[in-house]
Amino acid sequence: MKEVHVNLHNIRNCICGKCPSFPGRFKEMEHAQMPGLFCRAGKSKLEIDQKGCLCSDCEVFKEHGLSGGYFCVNGKAQ
Ligand code: SF4
Ligand code: SF4
Repeated sequence: MKEVHVNLHNIRNCICGKCPSFPGRFKEMEHAQMPGLFCRAGKSKLEIDQKGCLCSDCEVFKEHGLSGGYFCVNGKAQ
C-alpha cells in the first residue's frame, strides 16, 4: 500500500461525494478538516449512516493499493 497524499489529483479522484453514505459536503465541512478523502483524513466526526461504500471503485483506492473501505467510519487506510 502506498501512502495517500493530499493533492489535487487525489482530491479530484475521490468519489466520496457520490456515495450514499456521504453526509453532505457542507455538513461535513462543519465537523471535519476535509470533506472526503477519508482514506487519508481518517474518520468523519459525523455519525455515518452506512448505506454502502464506493471506495473500491475509486481511482485513489486502486492507485494506492488500498484494502477495506468505510474509511469515514473505520479511520484512515492502514
Ligand atoms: S478510497 Fe474512498 S475515501 Fe479514499 S479517495 Fe477514494 S472514495 Fe475517497
Ligand atoms: S469512505 Fe466509503 S463509505 Fe465513506 S463516504 Fe467515502 S465512499 Fe462512502
